[in-house]
Amino acid sequence: MGLIVQKYGGSSVADAAGMKRVAARIVASKRAGNKVVVVVSAMGDTTDELIDLANQITPIPTGRELDMLLTAGERISMALLAMAISNLGHEARSFTGSQAGVITDSAHGRARIIDVTPGRIQEALDEGAIAIVAGFQGISQDTKDVTTLGRGGSDTTAVALAAALEADVCEIYTDVDGIFSADPRVVPAARKLKTVTYDEMLELAASGAKVLHLRCVEYARRYDLPIHVRSSFTTNEGTWVVKDHPEGGNMEQAIISGIAHDKTEAKITIVGVPDRTGVAARIFQAIADADINIDMIVQNVSAAATGLTDISFTLPKAEGANASKILQAIQGEVGFASIQYDDQIGKLSLVGAGMRSHPGVTATFFAAMSDAGVNIEMISTSEIRISIICRESDLDRGVKAAHTAFELDADQIEAVVYGGTGR
Ligand code: ADP
Ligand code: ASP
Ligand code: MG
Repeated sequence: MGLIVQKYGGSSVADAAGMKRVAARIVASKRAGNKVVVVVSAMGDTTDELIDLANQITPIPTGRELDMLLTAGERISMALLAMAISNLGHEARSFTGSQAGVITDSAHGRARIIDVTPGRIQEALDEGAIAIVAGFQGISQDTKDVTTLGRGGSDTTAVALAAALEADVCEIYTDVDGIFSADPRVVPAARKLKTVTYDEMLELAASGAKVLHLRCVEYARRYDLPIHVRSSFTTNEGTWVVKDHPEGGNMEQAIISGIAHDKTEAKITIVGVPDRTGVAARIFQAIADADINIDMIVQNVSAAATGLTDISFTLPKAEGANASKILQAIQGEVGFASIQYDDQIGKLSLVGAGMRSHPGVTATFFAAMSDAGVNIEMISTSEIRISIICRESDLDRGVKAAHTAFELDADQIEAVVYGGTGR
């Protein structure tokens, strides 16, 4: 008898039929003798629809009210799922994030979990019930307001609860059979991976592979908690996210484990920046003061004749308008010529632990991009990742080309997308 935490994503509970299908799976796990805690997301595209609705009322809703609105999506799911389980003759009790003891900081829309006190969940389990928890939400320790953990945050709720309850495993049920060598929606020839290490998955998640929320992987690594990502539509074995690839595992020979892509970033170029000590510090301090996260930065060599240089950096599109405003405010003081804003960029990242010991990865990658007619605009690397920025319209072509160049294409199509709109 074990303790399992299962998380079902929005596409798995998109309608009443989906709820019933998932309820049957949960009951089967319970009947197999396990204690079961379930984390559930909002149905289908509910979260996106609630955001659209809010934007019809006001372009900039306050964080507090937006979080209050969005958490309603998960509350609908948890109650319906509890009813569906009850119909199958088992007791299920639903809990909001706050009732489940998910305590966060007060950063609305991207709150961090600071503590998990799942007393009521433990109590429900001890009394033989299945506990259903609304994903993606918590309560601020300071303000006592309802918070959300950022898009895709139900994964993090599940892993945090699994760690706090010392569960044996955290199962993430989604609309594909596991973690693939690339997004199956873009690369139909993607291969399912047997295992991915925490480090590789952190890089993939940070590079836009939304199959797992970045924070959930950070959490799992910290507690060394295995995650099993699999489909709620089949009983196929999925992908295990673990500390190390097992001996003789699928990754032993592979240089590249996965390719991620991201269309959510924009690029700002500050043109004609005086090349003096302290200028870059001044610019990025202003950006940091506004709590804006930046990703890649490129500074060109300054032209000898003018002593001026250009600095480009990437950031989430959602922060673009704010960042431009902040830079305009310091333009006089810093003395640069102008700002260019470009939101038609895409980011393509190769991730693989094997990169450490194999020279020539960059050369193969860049040759593939050139053959595919993809122009590289920016580059950044880590020990196990290479990322480039290109035109957004070239991105899908680039992902497919890189996948083929690193011999990742499967002989037979195995990547099935069972549900979801990919929104
Ligand atoms: P859920 O609603 O279950 O949380 P998400 O839409 O958040 O599901 O995540 C699953 C989706 O992640 C898949 O449908 C797929 O399009 C996308 N995805 C991106 N990269 C990968 C990858 N490397 N492997 C599998 N899925 C990926
Ligand atoms: N419903 C939230 C979202 O769409 C959280 C989640 O699905 O993980 O982002
Ligand atoms: Mg998700």
